[in-house]
Amino acid sequence: MFKKTLAGMFGLLLSLASCQSPDNAQTEQPAAQEITAAADTTKREPRPKPDYYNFRGVERKRVYICMDATEDTFHQKHDCPELITCKGQFRNLILARAIEDFDRYNCETCSANLAYIFDETYVP
Ligand SMILES: [Zn+2]
Repeated sequence: MFKKTLAGMFGLLLSLASCQSPDNAQTEQPAAQEITAAADTTKREPRPKPDYYNFRGVERKRVYICMDATEDTFHQKHDCPELITCKGQFRNLILARAIEDFDRYNCETCSANLAYIFDETYVP
């Protein structure tokens, strides 16, 4: 009885597997695991304090930062995918403080439009 059920399940698995090429099925899985492992073990180092910045006109803009030692960005969107992964506390503060007191750079995901703040060659 048990054997028969097992054989039936095996047959089902085989028929499922035959829907896709066996080569693909075998190579996809280990690759996905490697990526996960790398993300877990790679410790991000925050960049040093910005050498140059000019936030004139947007210094009072409210931004969000993640209070984590490995974070060096600020976010304009409270639901930014980068911010959601924050394991520490969030803070909502003005842009000037985020840069001057917390050495933050613009988040490439939600604040790419503010990259000019750190661009010495930018002419408004
Ligand atoms: Zn962001």
